[in-house]
Amino acid sequence: MEVKVNAVMLRATDYKENDKILTLLTAEKGKITAGIRGVKKAGAKLKFAAQPFCFAEYVLARTGERYTVVGASENESFYDLRTDINKFYAACAAMEAADALTYEGEDCSRLFSSTVRLLSQICVGDERSALISYLLEALRYAGYGISLENCPYCRKELINENILRFDFPAGVFTCRDCGDGEMASGVTYNVMRKLSSKPFAEEFITPDGEKRALRILREYIPYKTGSALKSLAEYIRLI
Ligand SMILES: [Zn+2]
Repeated sequence: MEVKVNAVMLRATDYKENDKILTLLTAEKGKITAGIRGVKKAGAKLKFAAQPFCFAEYVLARTGERYTVVGASENESFYDLRTDINKFYAACAAMEAADALTYEGEDCSRLFSSTVRLLSQICVGDERSALISYLLEALRYAGYGISLENCPYCRKELINENILRFDFPAGVFTCRDCGDGEMASGVTYNVMRKLSSKPFAEEFITPDGEKRALRILREYIPYKTGSALKSLAEYIRLI
């Protein structure tokens, strides 16, 4: 039986001499794995379908519980991501996070749309802020959303505070005096609010603010999922 899915290629792992196993984020079937044969041979027709960020309609043959890619027509290759190392690593970081934050068998249609949108945004514009917005959104979809509201203990407003705490288990910012989270800056908090379309204090947005927000995300996502984000770490080193 053949099925067609719209998917973004998240990860490709070598398998046997010429094959790969792909992890695909699909609009219709959530995250799935599918084998693809012969793509390491020169001139293989479906080589593009095993490339990072490939956004295509994949034709899958299903045998029992296993899928094999038997055809694909590319919607968008996001070629510009391969000509700029910062954009490339930001896109890799998003693929890695999407993989870490999803399970096979659950609906991923919202994350799929956000992922396609992010890849287009990175191609044409600033990848840093787009990546942070995407990671915050992906965390919300996965049920690990970061709370950017008042201190949950004393209800104090945090928008004008210089020093805060970030509670990793709960995923919340608190004021400095409450809780026992790691120290975090008001800059990080305000950058995350800005990139979540919430009111924020402009004077707290510094040039390194986005890097600080990414550093917390680099720690928080593995804390929740157990998967290290190597590309995100590399991206932070680059910027
Ligand atoms: Zn408090």
